Amino acid sequence: MAVQRTLSIIKPDATRRNLTGKIVDRLEQGGLRVVAQRRVHLTRAQAEAFYDVHKERPFYDSLCSFMTSGPVVVQVLEGENAIERNREVMGATNPENADAGTIRKDFAESLEANSVHGSDAPETAAREIAFFFAEVDIVG
Ligand code: ADP
Ligand code: MG
Repeated sequence: MAVQRTLSIIKPDATRRNLTGKIVDRLEQGGLRVVAQRRVHLTRAQAEAFYDVHKERPFYDSLCSFMTSGPVVVQVLEGENAIERNREVMGATNPENADAGTIRKDFAESLEANSVHGSDAPETAAREIAFFFAEVDIVG
């Protein structure tokens, strides 16, 4: 498996509860390296553009409101098979279905406020990384 990069977001429910460090620790323990990181309060337009792929879904409006409800930490993670590895460390979208020891199982508040985002495929990772970071900001 090749070294990959993926886009991670620590969501507003987690920053509000001061869980940034605990979540970064889970990512690092999971074999992922933080190679870029920034704390930002998304605008509505940014949230809508980032989640454009979900715009027909019934939860889109509420998701965009949630993602702008407080600061987030956007990160580029690097590692072997990083996209899939991060999805494993995160756990299932719905924390009720997430495996024991995953970030979402241990920290998520709800299906919507599920503490972390992770890219789901190489094409989405490339798009999502470029959404937040210039190549010069990523230091591996
Ligand atoms: P994932 O974040 O695991 O890739 P999706 O891409 O399907 O999941 O959904 C994006 C985000 O939208 C989820 O992480 C969650 O915050 C929210 N979400 C997904 N499905 C629902 C739902 N049925 N109700 C409310 N929020 C949802
Ligand atoms: Mg997704």
